[in-house]
This record gives sequence, C-alpha cells and structure tokens, in this order.
Amino acid sequence: MITLEDPRKATNQAMIEPTQQHFVVLGGGLAGLVAARELLRKGCRVTLIEKNAEVGGLARTFEQDGFRFDIGGHRFHSNNPSVVQWLKDLLKTDLLVVPRISHIYLNKKFVDYPIQFPDALSVFSPFKAMQMVVSYLSAKVTERGRQDISFEDWVVKRYGKALYRTFFQPYTEKVWGIACDQLAASWASQRIGIPSLLRVIKQAVQPTKDTPATAISQFYYPRAGFGMIPQALEKEILQTGGILHTSTTLLECVPLSSGFRITAQHEDGTCQTIQADQVISTIPVNYLLQSIPAELGSQEILRNYTLEYRDIVCLFVALNRKQVSTDSWTYFPLRNLIFGRTHEPKNWSAEMVPSDDYTSLAIEIFSSRNEPIWNMTDDEILAKVVEQMDEIGWIQKSDVHKSWVLRVPYAYPVYHIGYQEKLRAVKNYLGQWENLHLAGRTGSFHYMNSDGVIEDIFQLMETLFPEKNIEVKSLASVTGRWM
Ligand SMILES: Cc1cc2nc3c(=O)[nH]c(=O)nc-3n(C[C@H](O)[C@H](O)[C@H](O)COP(=O)(O)OP(=O)(O)OC[C@H]3O[C@@H](n4cnc5c(N)ncnc54)[C@H](O)[C@@H]3O)c2cc1C
Repeated sequence: MITLEDPRKATNQAMIEPTQQHFVVLGGGLAGLVAARELLRKGCRVTLIEKNAEVGGLARTFEQDGFRFDIGGHRFHSNNPSVVQWLKDLLKTDLLVVPRISHIYLNKKFVDYPIQFPDALSVFSPFKAMQMVVSYLSAKVTERGRQDISFEDWVVKRYGKALYRTFFQPYTEKVWGIACDQLAASWASQRIGIPSLLRVIKQAVQPTKDTPATAISQFYYPRAGFGMIPQALEKEILQTGGILHTSTTLLECVPLSSGFRITAQHEDGTCQTIQADQVISTIPVNYLLQSIPAELGSQEILRNYTLEYRDIVCLFVALNRKQVSTDSWTYFPLRNLIFGRTHEPKNWSAEMVPSDDYTSLAIEIFSSRNEPIWNMTDDEILAKVVEQMDEIGWIQKSDVHKSWVLRVPYAYPVYHIGYQEKLRAVKNYLGQWENLHLAGRTGSFHYMNSDGVIEDIFQLMETLFPEKNIEVKSLASVTGRWM
C-alpha cells in the first residue's frame, strides 16, 4: 500500500532552478530522446526510461543481415527552417535528399499519389469516371449544409459519394480498422487537399491523354535509415552525462509533495526507484494513467476515457532481385489485399541493402492486437502476402530471399468521433501536476510526424526555460498529405 502525500500542494518547483532539477523522461522514442538531449544541453540532470532493448520507438530502423528497414519508411520533411537546421546539425553529411515518387494501385493500375484529380479517374471507364464527376458536382449542391462530424461527412461533402467510396473509404478503413463514419472529421481536414473544381470539370468534358507530370517533391533521409536520428541522439545523451535505461518499463509514477517517485522494472525483473523533480511522458497515455496510484482517481479516468491506439504489423522482405519499382511508397487500398502500403528502402538509400544484387520491401499491414492478422504466425503472414503480391504481379515467391515480421503496438492515435472530449478529460486530470508534461505523438495523443514531434519538444523547452528559447517559427506543423 502506497502512502501518498498530497500531490496537489506539491508541484511548485519555483524554489529550484529548472536547470538544477532532475528530469525523468518516460519513453525513448524520438520525443523522449529529443527532450533528453535538449535538457542535457541546458545543464539539467536527465534519466530516460525505455521499454524496448533499443531506443527510437516508431522511428527506429530494424537491421538484419545487411538489410535495413524503417517501420513503414520514414521520410523527413518540415516547413520549419529551424527544425531542418536542427536535423542537419545533428546528422551533418549523413542526410540525403531523395525524390518522392508514389503510386496507388487502383482498378489494376498504378496512378500517381497523392491522388491528383482528375488524373486518377483515367483508370476507370469514361462512364464510371463521368459518374464520379456528376456525384462530385451534385455534392456541391446537396451536401452544402451538411455538418462535418465524421471523416465520411467531410469527404462526401467535398468530393461526392462516388469518389469517397472509390478512393478515400477503402484505404482509410484499412489503415484505421474502423468505419469512416466513426472517424472524426478533424483528421480528414488535417490530411486531405481539395481539388480544383475547374480541373475536374475540364477533364470530364475534354479528357486528355497527357496527364500532368507526377508531383515529385523531395525529402531528407538519413543515409543508413531513419534510425540514425535516434542513434545520434542516444550517443549525445550518453556523452553528455544522461542516464539511459533500455529494456526498462515504467511501473509506478507516484506524485509526491515535491516531484514524483518513479518505479521502473528492468528486464531481469529487478526494480529501481528514482526521484524526479519533473517528468516528461512520451509513452502511451493509458500506460501513464495505469502507473498513477488508483487512490488518486487515475483508474477511473482510464476506464471512462480510454484513448485508442492503432497497431501495425510490418513484414520486411529481402528480395533476390535488383528492383521492384522506382516508388518511394506504393499504396494498396483494395480490401481483399492484407497489406496497405509498401516501400522499397533501396530507392531511398543504397545503404539499405547489403549489395546492389538485392532489393527489399517493407510491407505495412494495418492490424491491431485483437485482429486475426496480428495473431497469424510469421510464416502465414509471409505466405499470404507473397501469394497476393504474386496475383497482382508485384513480386513472386522465388524472389524472396529472407523475411522478418515486426508487430508494432501503439503506432497511431485513433481519432474516433468524440476523442477530443476524452483527451480533454485525461489532460485535465493529469494537468493537476504542473511538473508532469505530456509530449510527442504517442505521449500527447496527437497525430504528428517526426518534424512535428521535434517542434513539440522545442515548445516544451520554451515553456520550461522561457529565457533560453530555441527559436521556433511556427506551431507544430502536421506535414504531409493523406496518410
Ligand atoms: C507506419 C508509420 C510511418 C511513419 N512515417 C513517417 C514519415 O514518413 N515521416 C515522419 O516524419 N514520421 C513518420 N511517422 C511518425 C513518426 O514515427 C512519429 O511521429 C515519431 O516516431 C513519434 O515519436 P514519439 O517519441 O512521440 O513516439 P514513440 O516512437 O511511440 O515513442 C514512445 C516510446 O515509449 C516507449 N514506451 C512505451 N511504453 C513504455 C513504458 N511503459 N515504459 C517505458 N517506455 C515505454 C516505447 O517503446 C517507445 O519507444 C510514421 C509512423 C508510423 C507508425
């Protein structure tokens, strides 16, 4: 039984300079590592606790037999020059600039991705394409007053039912594992661009064979995989006196009259107790709530306001061939295909394969722990994927050299309708401790890419050390488009 001091009286650290405080960072993904590194640079004491054997979280790179795979292929892009500069300073000459080429498999053909309307219609018969255009135009009238509550509402209002059913619904439902009418509209508005009405009409009336050039943009990519970012941060943290415990799981986070008592369990079963002046949590919100003593009402909050995360299964396949495609990513929205997206690491950096004789595919299968795919054996997953890829002419069984399966929990915060209210309740509850900070994508339940995570930590540093700002020019940007 834990005896608690009154935590509400307890959190004012005004008497101690922040730079003399001990920060415990929960989670060694990108958010936790960036936070630890920036705190150490300011002279703070830092202890970081990471559950996995290695740091990096979702941003780590899996490496085996000379093949390297990110969890789903991580490009780096930011509209914020200070974030880009921060990364350049960290990785120096290890940062490549890579062209982005992506396609989506629709009606047995590959078309440019992000979807360019009206080009994407060209894979359908003129009649079906016309139906989609009519549905798009009529939505402008019939859906005008419709309120945007769900993802479905948002898309149907702007694109019409036919385009929604053909392009948006199948892939979105595959990614999230829930019906589009259960997904909050706010997610769509963050991720989808609106096509020009004029272009849609023009192409419908006078289809041209010349499609506009594929929208090729560029992104940054670390030469030996995205995991070079967490690795560089880890190195600096250790060099500057940070304490880093991997294979160590948070058990308890007990608010005290001054700071917190953190209990963590190492891999060998032994426990360690650490006193923290401030805690930065980047782990799933539900784990944090579980770790706070029930006497403080944490379990009631968890029961009433559980936030849902989506998991992912990654199949990494090394192939006995030089190239599958020139794509950065390829999207497969068809419901009967168990995979949703592939990426070919060699197209991003030659160092992702052991020699030019080989290539590889990182295959994303969107599945959560309670679903059948998650529970299939690795061999069953490989067999199913290869059988389906063979059917569509993507790869053959004889191409497969080696394979590995990685099951990754807590990959995406799910924006269910009503999640904002739950998140507000959780944040209100945790907000009673002013020296407990939620940060990052997983820890603050905010769908962000890595650049957004870095900006999020910059802003936390601004709050903690107002007089020693890192210059941040804009609020955390959620860059990238649909998915
Ligand atoms: C498939 C996929 C593709 C993506 N593609 C891109 C991309 O192209 N570009 C891009 O910029 N971003 C991309 N992202 C997003 C990017 O990965 C994230 O924004 C970023 O890695 C999130 O970092 P984080 O530290 O907030 O969370 P996480 O990486 O989830 O870190 C949380 C850490 O906490 C640890 N942890 C959990 N529970 C405990 C516990 N009880 N005790 C101790 N430790 C614990 C975890 O092991 C993990 O290391 C992608 C994400 C996914 C899933």
